[in-house]
Amino acid sequence: MIDIPAPLRLRLDGDALVQNWRTLDRMSGTAACGAAVKANGYGLGAIEVARRLAAAGCRDFFVSNWQEAAELAPLGLTVSVLHGVREEDMPAVTAGFARPVLNTPIQVARWKAAGGGPCDVMVDTGMNRLGVSADDIAGGLLDGLAIETLMSHLACADEDVPMNAVQRDRFAALAGTTSARRLSLANSAGIALKGYAFDLTRPGLALYGGVPRNELSAIRQVVGPEAQILQRRRVHASDSVGYNALWTAKDETEVAIVNLGYADGYRRHFTNIGAALASGRVLPVLGRVSMDLVAIGVDAAKDLAEGDWVALDYALPTSAAASGLSQYELLTGLGARFERVWTTS
Ligand SMILES: *Cc1c(COP(=O)(O)O)cnc(C)c1O
Repeated sequence: MIDIPAPLRLRLDGDALVQNWRTLDRMSGTAACGAAVKANGYGLGAIEVARRLAAAGCRDFFVSNWQEAAELAPLGLTVSVLHGVREEDMPAVTAGFARPVLNTPIQVARWKAAGGGPCDVMVDTGMNRLGVSADDIAGGLLDGLAIETLMSHLACADEDVPMNAVQRDRFAALAGTTSARRLSLANSAGIALKGYAFDLTRPGLALYGGVPRNELSAIRQVVGPEAQILQRRRVHASDSVGYNALWTAKDETEVAIVNLGYADGYRRHFTNIGAALASGRVLPVLGRVSMDLVAIGVDAAKDLAEGDWVALDYALPTSAAASGLSQYELLTGLGARFERVWTTS
C-alpha cells in the first residue's frame, strides 16, 4: 500500500478528552464514571478513546452492539453492550469480551437459557425506548440473574423538566429489588443534575467536548477538523460561488476552495453560516457546502495559498446552535476520510 497523506485531518486533543473524563468523574461524586464509546467513540475512534480513558482510570465502557465490542476486545476492558443480545450474537458472547445489557423479556429468556453469567439490565422508567418494565421486575423476570448493573436512561436530562425527577424516583424505587450490584442512571447531562449519579455514570457526549447543560461549561473541545486548500481564486463583483449560486460577491473577493464537504460530515447546514479560522481570523463559508468541497472567503488571509491548511470552526455548542444540528450529530457524522491525528497538549 502506498501511504498517501490525507487532504483532511481531524485533530483530536487527548488531554482535553482525559480532562473531560476527570471533570465528569469528579462531578459524579462517589459514583464511578464510565464512558459511552459507541458509534466509534462518537466518531473520534473507539480504540484510541477507550485506551486513553482506561489509562486515566475509567473502568466501565458502553457500546451499542457486538461488532463494536469485538473491536475493543484487544484492549481487555469491561464492556457492556447496550442493545443486549440477539440470537446472532450468542457465538460472540461465548468469546467473553463483553456482557449484554438485557433489554427485553426475550433477551432475558435467551440469556437464562444460555446459562446466564454476569449481565446488565436496562429498565424503562419513562423514555419508552429500551428496557424491561418495573412490572416485569416485580413479576420476577430477573430472578436468578447475576446482574452487575441495573440501569435506566433519562429522556430529558438536558432540560429542566419534571420528567427527570419522575424517572429518578421510579429508578430509585427499584433499589434492592434485584441482584444488581450497582445502579446507573445518568448520561452526560444527567451528571449535572443533583442526585442522579447513583453508583455509576455513563457519559458520552461531554467526554468528546459536547456541552448539553450550562453546568458542564468546564468541558473542553476535543475535535478540530482541518482541510487543505485546493485552489485560491478571485471572484468578481456580482459573480456567484457554488451549487445553486447561493452566494454572490458584492465586491471583488478572494476565495479558497477547501478539501472537505458534507460527505465528511461537514454538513450542508453550514452553507453560508460556517467558517474557517486561521490565526484568529474568521474566514466565512461562501455558498453551499458541496459533497467534497467548501468555499471560504480569504480576503482576511492574504498569505493562505494552495496546499495550505485551514481549521474549520467546529466549536460544538455554537456550531450546533448556528446549524440547527445536535452536538451528537456534529460528532458522529465525522467521516472516514479524515486522518485522525491525536495530540496531547
Ligand atoms: C448513548 C448513551 C449514553 C451516553 O449518553 P450521552 O448523552 O452521550 O452522555 C448513556 N447511556 C445510554 C443507555 C446510552 O445509550
